[in-house]
Amino acid sequence: MSKDPNFTETDLFSFEAGPAKLKKSRSKKAEGESPKPRRTKKSIPAPAPEPEEETAAPEGETKASSLWADKYWEFDITHPSAEIKDAMKSSMVEEGFTKREANRVFKGLTFKEKVFNTKRQAKEYLKTIPTTYAVKYKIGIEPSPQMISLERRLKEKQERLASYSKEQNEKKFSADFITCPHCKSRVNTSFIHPPVCPVCGEDMRSDTAVKTIHSLEEAVKDLSKRSEDAARKHNSKFTGGERWIIRTINPVKEEE
Ligand SMILES: [Zn+2]
Repeated sequence: MSKDPNFTETDLFSFEAGPAKLKKSRSKKAEGESPKPRRTKKSIPAPAPEPEEETAAPEGETKASSLWADKYWEFDITHPSAEIKDAMKSSMVEEGFTKREANRVFKGLTFKEKVFNTKRQAKEYLKTIPTTYAVKYKIGIEPSPQMISLERRLKEKQERLASYSKEQNEKKFSADFITCPHCKSRVNTSFIHPPVCPVCGEDMRSDTAVKTIHSLEEAVKDLSKRSEDAARKHNSKFTGGERWIIRTINPVKEEE
């Protein structure tokens, strides 16, 4: 799927050259409400050398190691890439990354001029790249009647699945004790992870419930795929707007 050549490829520009540390932090604006183009002055301050050690703490013990392994971000293409990077960096520092770790997340960051037909297609592609990477996907294209209908049916199935599962769980697991239909153990429901029996590991729901849930899940999967396929085909014929989607990889997490 990621081999799909349905995107245009032109040039690329990479941050690999250096830490490209920009002086001013504009996190508030870049993340904020108004997506109006905000041109930075042409002269970007020369990259300042990074301080070698920020803290004495060994990296494995920093907060970043317990944060996300990867994360998706989206930005309006009117933002210059340096501004996008600044915004992500400020946000990561707020989350608990040190500046040094945030810089490592951006190591090798490339803003690639690849335009995917859908967001999902872009995400599937990004998942195949082992480093932090940015591509674009199409937005603002009027969906076809077929897409609208598939989306509606998908939503209906998803809702039915959610409500049915919830109803089954409430019915089955709300009592203090229940008996496993497979091994007949009587188990305290405050110590189990529904629907699995802690004694035999089997699903404790009724066969009918399991079957119904399974077929609803299959229907959701099928409609989701058909809906995505329809969107890819439809969008491939049109040009609307574009949006950056970026997948950041946390190298500290990877070392865990
Ligand atoms: Zn059991």
